[in-house]
Amino acid sequence: MKIISSISRLRKELDYERRRGRSIGFVPTMGALHEGHASLIRQCRRENDVVVISIFVNPIQFGPAEDFSAYPRQKQKDVQLAEQNGCDIVFHPDARQLLPSGFNTYVEVPQLSRGLCGASRPGHFRGAATIVAKFFNIINPHRAYFGQKDYQQLAIIKMMVADLNFPITIREVKTYRASDGLAMSSRNVYLSQDQRKEAPAIYHALQKARQKIRNGEVDAAKIKLMVKTHITRNSSGKIDYVECVDAKELSPLKTIKGRCLIAVAVFFGKTRLIDNILLQI
Ligand code: AMP
Repeated sequence: MKIISSISRLRKELDYERRRGRSIGFVPTMGALHEGHASLIRQCRRENDVVVISIFVNPIQFGPAEDFSAYPRQKQKDVQLAEQNGCDIVFHPDARQLLPSGFNTYVEVPQLSRGLCGASRPGHFRGAATIVAKFFNIINPHRAYFGQKDYQQLAIIKMMVADLNFPITIREVKTYRASDGLAMSSRNVYLSQDQRKEAPAIYHALQKARQKIRNGEVDAAKIKLMVKTHITRNSSGKIDYVECVDAKELSPLKTIKGRCLIAVAVFFGKTRLIDNILLQI
């Protein structure tokens, strides 16, 4: 496995692979890799000749009061996990090369960025879409892999790819969970022992919502209230939002129908966890 930090060197390597007719798969990450990331890398390995992952804690997707400096960084462990799961190239760009001073071009998908996490994290998706667009231009992969756990990001990237004609197939990967149901996240390491024990209440609440909807409930307000109540009764989590939205437009639903997403963000102390489930009614 190669670890590359120079943009021009990565381009050269990948041009060579492309000329040999090899397909390139790409998994963007911010590092602090866990089994969720590993499932993306493994799927990428199965579907491509060359597997590239990026590890970059992207400063332009963090708000001023967010955890950019505290975000967990563990390059050695990440490199090991990437290699064990079949990665060929780790792209670990130098921040000054990727975002030189004076950098001033951004990609925005405003319609999909307003609600859900966009409401409490202004600028977050603009920063994420911009860095992904840069990676797509540098790597030019055939396929790129994103997790359903960050569903809004996935929807935004899909729209960006369609609107800007990137010749890239976006592959979505199911949320990988710990055995107690908690969605794997790099931020789970911030949780205290007690918070970690309580955090699966998020997933349990979503499962309860799924069951209620299966039993015929279509009133989104009732579902949202049930999810909120379950989380607040069974944990110390403070709700940021609980929403039922159309899975394509991300617009709020009053009546649950079609392909819909129930998405949740909850604070455990300062740690903000997100999760969601997708339903087809
Ligand atoms: P991050 O390093 O948090 O930016 O995540 C990098 C990629 O891994 C994104 O596409 C995430 O959606 C995906 N990812 C993170 N956690 C999970 C998980 N538990 N299951 C599936 N994909 C995940």
